[in-house]
Amino acid sequence: MTTTPAFDPPQRILMGPGPSGAHPRVVRAMTAPLLGHLDPEFLRIMDECRDLLRTVMRTGNEITFATPGTGTSGMEAAVMNLVSPGDRVVCSICGYFGERIAQMAERAGGEVTRVQAPWGSPVDPEAVRSAVQQAGGVKLVTMVHAETSTGVQTPVEPVSDIAKEAGALLLVDCVTSLGGVPVEPDAWGADAVYSGTQKCLSAPPGVAPITVSPRGWEAITSREVPSNTWYLDMDLLAAYWDERRVYHHTAPISMIYALHQALSLVVEEGLENRWARHERNGRALQEGLEAMGLGLHADEGYRLPVLTTVRIPDGVNDAEVRGALLKRYGVEVGGGLGELKGQVWRVGLMGESSSPGNVLLFLAALGRLLREHGFKADLRAGREAAAARLGEPS
Ligand SMILES: *Cc1c(COP(=O)(O)O)cnc(C)c1O
Repeated sequence: MTTTPAFDPPQRILMGPGPSGAHPRVVRAMTAPLLGHLDPEFLRIMDECRDLLRTVMRTGNEITFATPGTGTSGMEAAVMNLVSPGDRVVCSICGYFGERIAQMAERAGGEVTRVQAPWGSPVDPEAVRSAVQQAGGVKLVTMVHAETSTGVQTPVEPVSDIAKEAGALLLVDCVTSLGGVPVEPDAWGADAVYSGTQKCLSAPPGVAPITVSPRGWEAITSREVPSNTWYLDMDLLAAYWDERRVYHHTAPISMIYALHQALSLVVEEGLENRWARHERNGRALQEGLEAMGLGLHADEGYRLPVLTTVRIPDGVNDAEVRGALLKRYGVEVGGGLGELKGQVWRVGLMGESSSPGNVLLFLAALGRLLREHGFKADLRAGREAAAARLGEPS
């Protein structure tokens, strides 16, 4: 008999920049019997997913579905389908993911202007306005609503106004915001909005919700040259998701089940309740960290409740503390990306992971480890500040 390697992934508390913990109902859905990708029962589930997506994404857009692949597939679908060679694109960038969009727009043949903000601040709309005016004839403006690399939320409306004035389309990355903070493509006047499943929707990574406005769809379907992507060609994808049911790829069946249940859980909780839960837990964490004596990296007033960047105190070893959090407490947090490497920890409170218990556990675990590493964290002040925000007696 041949022995095979043991397969026994440990249970973790996922408090990094994603994936977040999945609800048991979502995990159970994935073990449901497989259906064929053109089985009438599966097609019904797909239709329900589209309706649920429109509810959760607060949009009436006909073109609303999920691309196969993680959040980046939604990004690539939006960029590659909207940008043709020679198109002028203004990319507003305040972190790692904004830059990723710019690189994709360049690969699509776009003439890209980058508008940069410091990592930790939101995008400055005036800088976007002058870049759009200077470039002239801009086809697309891009932005990241919730920058997971910095913990910053950039307000969409001011950028949307600029795009409208210039007659340009607006693309908004909502991978980390959907299901955690208000995402309103129709009210914003956004033309392409995409997300992922493993952030605030709390399903495993695997598909990417995407929605396109009628104006955006007009731009996609009137392209002179087909986009450089076949797999993520939205015209072809739409023909599978709508009543034509033209085979394009074998749908990731179990991931669509997961999406269906994750969206159902959002609707059952209620979007407003869910936003309020993320807000309360996120602020409790942030106020607790500050009371403990730590500094937050993102500008005040623009801090995401679902992802907190906390500065690593001088003399404390980044990797050692993160390693101990994982090993001793089973808690995963993220390190800094790009220029913030070694400078911050990224603490997520997304979806199922956003709970009062996780806030208090994390403050206690981090505070203890910091004290071992020579930083005098005020554990009691941290706990009391968080408990006060959570509405618990201290
Ligand atoms: C996570 C993330 C992505 C990429 O999603 P993947 O699922 O890792 O492909 C894109 N944009 C933002 C803002 C993200 O947080």
